[in-house]
Amino acid sequence: MAKISEIFGSNVFGDAVMKQRLPKETYKQVQRTIQTGKRLDDEAARIVANAMKDWAIEKGATHFTHWFQPMTGVTAEKHDSFISPTDNGGVIMEFSGKELVRGEPDASSFPSGGLRATFEARGYTAWDPTSYAFIKENVLCIPTAFCSYGGEALDKKTPLLRSMDALNRECLRIVKLFGHEDVKHIMTTVGPEQEYFLIDRKAYEKRKDIIYTGRTLFGAKPPKGQELDDHYFGSIKPRVQAFMNDLNEELWKVGVLAKTEHNEVAPAQHELAPIFTTGNLAADHNQLTMETMQRVAARHGMVCLLHEKPFAGVNGSGKHNNWSMSTDTGINLLEPGDTPEQNALFLLSLCAVIQAVDDYQDMLRISVASAGNDHRLGANEAPPAIISMFIGDELGAILDAIESGTAYVGKEREQLKIGVHVLPRFPKDTTDRNRTSPFAFTGNKFEFRAPGSSASISGVNVVLNTAVAESLRQYADVLENSTDFENDLQSLIRRVIHDHKRIIFNGNGYDDAWVTEAANRGLLNLRTTPEALPYYIAEKNVELFTRHKVYSRIEMEARYEIHLEHYCKVLNIEALTMIDMARRDILPAVSRYIHELSDTALAIQSLTTSAVSTFESEQVAEMSGLLADAFHKTKNLDAALFGAKFVTGSQALADYYRERVFSAMAELRITIDQLETMTPEDVWPFPSYGELLFSVK
Ligand code: ADP
Ligand code: MG
Repeated sequence: MAKISEIFGSNVFGDAVMKQRLPKETYKQVQRTIQTGKRLDDEAARIVANAMKDWAIEKGATHFTHWFQPMTGVTAEKHDSFISPTDNGGVIMEFSGKELVRGEPDASSFPSGGLRATFEARGYTAWDPTSYAFIKENVLCIPTAFCSYGGEALDKKTPLLRSMDALNRECLRIVKLFGHEDVKHIMTTVGPEQEYFLIDRKAYEKRKDIIYTGRTLFGAKPPKGQELDDHYFGSIKPRVQAFMNDLNEELWKVGVLAKTEHNEVAPAQHELAPIFTTGNLAADHNQLTMETMQRVAARHGMVCLLHEKPFAGVNGSGKHNNWSMSTDTGINLLEPGDTPEQNALFLLSLCAVIQAVDDYQDMLRISVASAGNDHRLGANEAPPAIISMFIGDELGAILDAIESGTAYVGKEREQLKIGVHVLPRFPKDTTDRNRTSPFAFTGNKFEFRAPGSSASISGVNVVLNTAVAESLRQYADVLENSTDFENDLQSLIRRVIHDHKRIIFNGNGYDDAWVTEAANRGLLNLRTTPEALPYYIAEKNVELFTRHKVYSRIEMEARYEIHLEHYCKVLNIEALTMIDMARRDILPAVSRYIHELSDTALAIQSLTTSAVSTFESEQVAEMSGLLADAFHKTKNLDAALFGAKFVTGSQALADYYRERVFSAMAELRITIDQLETMTPEDVWPFPSYGELLFSVK
């Protein structure tokens, strides 16, 4: 393998390449565009496009695409060739400034929640110069935002960029109050850890459910699951290691800082962690990582499953969104400092996050809500559906002391008076002891663990950035008008702790007692996607996003609609796949097997005069009963699906799918899984959990 330093970023039209290939003046203009968002003029765009094209062609690229994140699915692209015909029948390689800056994909196939219909028939993509162009499989990919002609966001990137702007705006007001006049820009830093499963391609090809829905819809538990934890601590299998090496190299080429890869808890489950970067880039990189994982897995005869719950009863996959705020001068606002002033800014930033998570629990819950993630949140390996925060005992004790105005006794037994001047030196509690908390402080950043493995991280970051911007806005409004800064700061912090401490919970999030306790505290427990989604358009949330210009009311209504629609579609496909597998594969196979058993039972019976009970006869009785049961439950599921046709309204339909269709699916599964345990492996029409989970050696 070549050296990382040679590979890293070799397929990225990044800063070094631009510096080298662009005229000085144009390079400066691009820099300005990246830092301030100022539009690049036509002439500069033409020069950049030309340099980008030459560079890409030298690297073997033949096509270009505006690469974007539609509201559902991973990424979208439409490849256009660089080749243009010339008058004399030849061809030239062309790529104009206009093509760089703006594109017009056929937008009609992307979900818009009715937005385009209301405004314009088509959408356009616009270059996002803050995320570098890169080459993937001979295609020059230009990261873009996707909007309607009226300017409504039709993608996930646009609101993310807007939310980063909002946070920057409000946060700048705060750091100025602490004397950081030199700070020009504040960005979020994000490092998403990505979990995934790898299974053998041949086993995958025999499972209709994984092919159509990304997860198994049937499957009895294997004798050995994750009980022994041996996979987590075990060495990485050679095929997986080869995949990881290849994946790393591919990711490094496109500038993704893939750092650690290891096995996860479940058999066949693994994790990739990148080194954190700015929020927007992290979101693009994570999309690129998911795409690349699937492509590289195919090369190695495997399939990468990104579904949140590919196997029932086995650990699901999440995506931990590590998040912090950082100034362009290098201060991490969530890093406890050494001086009282630094700690005061740290404390206020911490308060901003605490208040944000408490005030917008509902939006955070929605940002991780999907049909797939519903299987995970609340199951015993994932964080619960109740949003709460873990800050650790030490920091918790400090906040308690600040609130009550009492002295905090630190580990070193030194008495500390509370006040901005004498705030204690904070212990750097980086130990990540509480794996059950959905939102944990891990020393210098927060880790949001509820996002599902297949989701874009844009959604959670949009909510987080905007909600924290709102806390900071409120604080800046108070403090900018203060005549006694230290006193007012202290009472502000005290008030925030007092008002929002209910969201802090350092105990076991899987404990049943927590559900009761959380209800007593008035925290939300939105167990399912249809239950959570109505909060999307709650007045307080519309107010938040419109105030910070992240979403318009119309955009929120459209997104609410898209979420509901998507949820129903997923359940519909799952239900149809189940019916198909049951009717056409499983029930006939079991019936044939029963027939075989009956023949044997009859043959045995014919040898004796008295009635005998044999394995065959008992098995026939039991299995026929279960088969009839499965048959009826299949019909019930079919009827439930049919009933969906008569439900009007998207929310009512989503509720119906959850209540009627989902439960009919669960019922059917129980019986079929029971039958699986009684049927010989060579008769069962699908590879078992054991075969799937242990398919990669
Ligand atoms: P672990 O969680 O395994 O102990 P780390 O805490 O070092 O490992 O980091 C986990 C993830 O958090 C990594 O992807 C890392 O890049 C990211 N991370 C570390 N610091 C920050 C930060 N300041 N902002 C955002 N993400 C961060
Ligand atoms: Mg972690």
